[in-house]
Amino acid sequence: MSATATDPVVELRGATRSYPGGVHALRGVDLTVERGELVAIVGPSGSGKSTLLNVIGTLDKPTSGTVRVAGYDVSALSDAQFSALRARHIGFVFQHFHLAAGRDAVDNVADGLLYAGVPLKERRARARVALERVRLGHRLDHRPNELSGGEKQRVAIARAVVGDPALLLADEPTGALDTAAGEIVMALIHELNAAGTTICVITHDTEIAESLPRRVRFRDGEIVSDSRAGAKVCPRPGPRPRTEGVGS
Ligand code: ADP
Repeated sequence: MSATATDPVVELRGATRSYPGGVHALRGVDLTVERGELVAIVGPSGSGKSTLLNVIGTLDKPTSGTVRVAGYDVSALSDAQFSALRARHIGFVFQHFHLAAGRDAVDNVADGLLYAGVPLKERRARARVALERVRLGHRLDHRPNELSGGEKQRVAIARAVVGDPALLLADEPTGALDTAAGEIVMALIHELNAAGTTICVITHDTEIAESLPRRVRFRDGEIVSDSRAGAKVCPRPGPRPRTEGVGS
């Protein structure tokens, strides 16, 4: 394994992911995300966003093509290296928070460092700092059932960034929240990005997508446009003619 500080955080070249039964969830995706970017991955249900998230998040390998994350070519990694890459370089935020029910906010966040070889005392100390960062310093010993939806998502964000990952992947981070809580979470995502974290937000919500500086639009497993705030939308060539359905 080798990677340098100047490598893009994400680099896909001709990445495909097919499932049995002729489902082509990704159809030759080329995508580069540079350090410091804040990108919306947007598209309708079934367009391949979750598949892309799984491939970028090293939860799944592509069927063909190359995928590099934090400079590492995922197809060249052993299973142990693949897991290490995920644990050390990628933070995840999910729509439904995925917090451990019986554990307080500090221990939920400290778990984000479980695989980094950090002793428990330091894990908890760093968790407290991360919780202060998402402005939950007054909720350290609260368990998930004692937190609002927005607070739970802020705990999940603290857990995702406590190890200072190269990449934060947020999958519909406001999908389970009311508008006010969703706005706080998105403001936090902007704040983390301004402080240097590279972030991809997967969303089907065009309003959220429009609020981010770069939008990569998916349809039927392909990128159909890639635009930046203030820049002219740059449509990709139209989808190639298909011989098989994508399914939905
Ligand atoms: P999105 O996240 O945009 O809703 P997905 O990536 O979940 O889209 O799905 C893209 C396509 O791949 C869909 O047609 C979906 O049915 C199919 N798909 C996703 N996961 C699997 C799987 N494990 N097995 C078979 N087909 C799948």
